Amino acid sequence: METTLRTYTVGEVCKGFVYNELEGKGLYGLSGRLTIQPEYQRNYIYADGKKDVAVVQSALHRYPLGVFYFNKTGADRWEVLDGQQRITSLGRFVTGKLGIIDDNDIPQYFSSMSAELQERILETPLLVYECEGTEDEIRKWFETVNISGVPLNTQELLNAVYSGEFVTLAKQEFSNSQNANVQKWSHFILGAVNRQDYLACALQWVSRDKVKEYMSLHRRDTNIDEMKRYFNSVIDWIDSVFTEVEKEMRGLEWGRLYETYHNQPYDAAEVQQKVRQLYGDPYVKNRKGVFEYILGGCRDKRLLDIRIFDEATKRKVYQRQTAEASMHNVSNCPLCAIGHEANRQKMWKLSDMEADHVSAWSLGGETSIENCQMLCKTHNRAKGNR
Ligand SMILES: [Zn+2]
Repeated sequence: METTLRTYTVGEVCKGFVYNELEGKGLYGLSGRLTIQPEYQRNYIYADGKKDVAVVQSALHRYPLGVFYFNKTGADRWEVLDGQQRITSLGRFVTGKLGIIDDNDIPQYFSSMSAELQERILETPLLVYECEGTEDEIRKWFETVNISGVPLNTQELLNAVYSGEFVTLAKQEFSNSQNANVQKWSHFILGAVNRQDYLACALQWVSRDKVKEYMSLHRRDTNIDEMKRYFNSVIDWIDSVFTEVEKEMRGLEWGRLYETYHNQPYDAAEVQQKVRQLYGDPYVKNRKGVFEYILGGCRDKRLLDIRIFDEATKRKVYQRQTAEASMHNVSNCPLCAIGHEANRQKMWKLSDMEADHVSAWSLGGETSIENCQMLCKTHNRAKGNR
C-alpha cells in the first residue's frame, strides 16, 4: 500500500460541501472529488452540539485537529477513511448548518463572524495521509487505524470490512432511526440504532452468533430477506409469548431463547400470570432470569438467584436442631436421623451443613427462619432442585 502525506486547508476540503440533512450524512468535499461518507462508514454521530462544536472550536483556537486518512479511488478522486466526523462538522459550520457559542456566550454562525476569524477557519491546515492499495489492503488497514475521536465499535468495523450492497441494505433497515419499527424493537434490544447495535443483534440472531461468517457469505447479496424474516420471527415470537413488556426484557439473549424454545407451546395468559407472580416475589433477586425460567418450564431456580438464608439464621437453626438432636441421641441432620445408615447418630459441624427451605420456595415457601432447616451437605444436595 502506498501512502503520501499531504496538507489541505479546511477551505479546500469544505469546497462544494454537501450535507444530506435527512440521512445526517456529509457527502462530498474538495469540489466534488472527495467522498466524505463511503457506504461502509458509520453514520455521522458528532451532531450533538458538543463534539461537532468542539471540532470548530479547536480550529478557532488553533488546536491540532489530528490526522486524516483519505483513500485514493481514482485519478483525482478520494474517499475519507478516517476523519469523516470531523470534516462533516467543519463542513456544516462553514455552510451555516451549525452554530457555536463564542467566548461571550453569543451564538455565532460562520457568516456572522469577522473576516479574520472566517479566514482562520478556512486556512486551518488538515494533515492528510493519502493511501492507495487494493480493496482488501485498504479494508484491513482501516480495521487497524480506527483512531478517530469516537472509536468504531465491533459492528462498525465489520460494516467497513464487509462493505457492499448487503451492508447498505442492512443499515437502511436496522441502523435507521427513521424506521417506525425501532420503537417496538427497543423493548427487547439494548443500545443505539446509529451505533449499529440493532444491526449487530439482527446479525447475531440470524447467524447464530457467527456474524463474520454470515457477513462474508452474504456480502454480495442484493437483498436482506433472510435476515429480515428471521429477525421478525424472533420479535413476533417474544411478542406472542410475553404479552406485557418489562424493562428487564431489554438485551436478553433472545436469539438463543428463540432457538431453544420457539417450538414449544405456551399459554400467554398463564405466562403473564407467572411473570407477575415472580416480579412480586421478594425472594427473586434476578428479574432478568424470569423469562428464561418460565420458558424452561419453571425448573431452573438458579436463573432467578433466589435470596438465601443469612448466616445468623443458619447459626440459630443449627443450634436449635443440634440441642434437640443431642437430647434424643440422633443426628442433627433430620434426614440422617431417620435413615438406616451409619450417620444416624452423627453430629455434623455447622460448616458441614447447608440451609434448606422446609417448604420449597417454588411452592411458595418463604426464606424465613420458620421455614429454614439445616441438612448435611449430602442430603441437601440430594434434595437439590426439586
Ligand atoms: Zn443428612
